[in-house]
Amino acid sequence: MSEVSSVPGTGMIIDGKALASELEAETKERVGELVALGRRPGLATIIVGENPASAMYVRIKHSACDRVGIRSENVNLHEDAGIEEIIETIRGLNEREDVNGILLQLPLPGNRDSAPAMAAIDPAKDVDGFHPVNMGSLLAGAERLVPCTPKGIVWALERLGVSLEGRETVIVGHSNVVGKPLAAMMLNRNATVSVCHVFTRNLAAHTRNAEVLVVAAGVPGLIKRDMVKPGAYVFDVGINRVEGKTVGDVEFDEVLKVAAAVTPVPGGVGPLTVSMLMSQTATATEMQEQINNR
Ligand code: NAD
Repeated sequence: MSEVSSVPGTGMIIDGKALASELEAETKERVGELVALGRRPGLATIIVGENPASAMYVRIKHSACDRVGIRSENVNLHEDAGIEEIIETIRGLNEREDVNGILLQLPLPGNRDSAPAMAAIDPAKDVDGFHPVNMGSLLAGAERLVPCTPKGIVWALERLGVSLEGRETVIVGHSNVVGKPLAAMMLNRNATVSVCHVFTRNLAAHTRNAEVLVVAAGVPGLIKRDMVKPGAYVFDVGINRVEGKTVGDVEFDEVLKVAAAVTPVPGGVGPLTVSMLMSQTATATEMQEQINNR
């Protein structure tokens, strides 16, 4: 498998960039079909304030849009913009036919509650999958637009030929962005799912059972070699800055010695997330097209 590179005597490194390129190529074809119908997909991002990390993530998303042929634009609101102004901006984008996907880049300044803004996004344009209607559909087993990071992981497992049915899966982290929606997606595919978090007693006792282990805690070095079942597939979602370097939550070199395969940081889950956002923007446009044609 080209997406999994072998290092002699160890587990495999899951090449998130290669997988993301495959997904991007598929999305580019779908975008081409939409363009032929006169419906070029459009993605609008909103940044509130001047957070450099948010600006960087949005730049990466816009570059991906350029590569697959999705039109993109960004609205930058002032740091002091109130929730009403954010909601007004979202409503304006909801109305526009040339905007098929809307993404509010989080976090909001001062870690303000984003829930009212998320709920204002038209569920049909909610390419991040955080709207309560889309979250509810996911939980009910009818996946529509869903959060991109967990969807990217599930897509990668499918692409690598790792079936989730009956599989012992453990997720470390129970956020609305990663852990909770991933648990629902894995249950929808008939995995046996445990979700661990900061209040979990004896984390290692859970992680050692995992045939598929996904770690999204934001704690560098949280998962050590003796916490991983031999032959496990390990997805490291964490993004942490340590001594000027970007690292994940998994002790990569050590865990690679026991696992079947591990995603690196950077170059693992991150590119998959961006690529899945492109795919979902195409999906949103296709769904809107079907509604308009009814
Ligand atoms: P969050 O802070 O909302 O949630 C963290 C979760 O980890 C919580 O459930 C918490 O209980 C749990 N946790 C914290 N410390 C723990 C510990 N010691 N033991 C067990 N559980 C612990 O974070 P989030 O938004 O889900 O993001 C998690 C990490 O993933 C961050 O590093 C974030 O930057 C990264 N992330 C990466 C991507 C990507 O595309 N690669 C996307 C989203 C988030």
